[in-house]
Amino acid sequence: MAKKTVMLLPGDGIGQEVMAQVVRIIEWMDTAGVASFDLREGLIGGASIDKFGVPLTDETVADCLACDAVLMGAVGGPKWDDVPFDKKPERGLLRIRKDMGLFANLRPALVFAELAEASTLKHEVVAGLDVMIVRELTGGIYFGQPRGIETLPNGDRKGYNTLVYTTPEIRRIGQVAFDLAMKRGKKVTSVDKANVLESTILWREEMEVVAKDYPEVALSHLYVDNAAMQLVRNPKQFDVMVTTNMFGDILSDCAAMLTGSLGMLPSASLGAADANGKRNALYEPVHGSAPDIAGQDLANPLAMILSLAMMLRYSFDLDAAADKLEGAVKAALAAGFRTGDIMQPGATKVGTKGMGDAVLKYLAEA
Ligand code: NAD
Repeated sequence: MAKKTVMLLPGDGIGQEVMAQVVRIIEWMDTAGVASFDLREGLIGGASIDKFGVPLTDETVADCLACDAVLMGAVGGPKWDDVPFDKKPERGLLRIRKDMGLFANLRPALVFAELAEASTLKHEVVAGLDVMIVRELTGGIYFGQPRGIETLPNGDRKGYNTLVYTTPEIRRIGQVAFDLAMKRGKKVTSVDKANVLESTILWREEMEVVAKDYPEVALSHLYVDNAAMQLVRNPKQFDVMVTTNMFGDILSDCAAMLTGSLGMLPSASLGAADANGKRNALYEPVHGSAPDIAGQDLANPLAMILSLAMMLRYSFDLDAAADKLEGAVKAALAAGFRTGDIMQPGATKVGTKGMGDAVLKYLAEA
């Protein structure tokens, strides 16, 4: 069977440094017979602007679409502050998400027991937390028409947006959430505002329809205001949360802060499944290119490494390899290795490469 192909888009700043650690891990997995991929590499963001004058070329998009999964670092930096808006590094990221049809954004909020002190919430509230937030990414109020700002005949101005969801849009994001729940704790909480918004009455009804295909998964519904409250009161009650674009935007940042560190947060964005069940998928850390620490071996590579674990699990069904990699991250933290952003008294401070070394050491020992 042909090897699965993975496209690497390191991007800019620390994106390149954290990707280098992921490449070392993929090479180790190949040598150790854990998993084997055919790697391709392309440019995105400022790196692409410097070479081609645009943040993403048509060829790179075509390469990404031809691969089985894409791993991305981060884009942007002060060097490209003055380029026109439509050529900014971040436009490359928006384009790749759009061209790959990535409508589902997955953000796990995972708190390793060793790092629970970094959260602003009490240790017992967050230690061991493992929630997956599934956000609809290409519909809802951020894209609905009509939208705009108008001047009324009496001179007042009116600003308006439209919250619109169709049955297929709701069902496909619902299916992503239920499929994930089947691989996790078999619980889905759908978040809406069905007491006020008709489009989310439809959202709730359609989630019930999707649930019929997943009899093993328990579905519950929460209004978004209550969901926000529950996320900070008792986040461990949740397994998979699925919600609209705007509610997900807000709740996923709230959940991210439960974990306390940007350098630890992976993410995935998925497209529609084809007849064979294959989905376009892009995996990336939540953090940006961190120009303030770029090129100094200071970046925490764990968000990028955990994004690789998500790729193994969700694009390739390599759950054992993903478990092994997440276990090695946990072991490195338990042994006291810390980059500057998660440093604690008494821990061993390491750089980007040193953390890569530690994860590789525990991978080999697992
Ligand atoms: P940032 O995430 O790059 O950095 C915010 C802060 O967190 C900085 O102090 C940085 O040093 C620190 N940090 C981030 N990741 C870290 C890591 N892995 N290890 C240790 N410390 C880390 O956000 P920003 O400073 O607002 O943006 C910098 C650039 O990145 C901008 O050009 C922005 O547009 C871009 N950006 C890109 C993405 C992306 O590619 N997905 C996301 C956010 C920001």
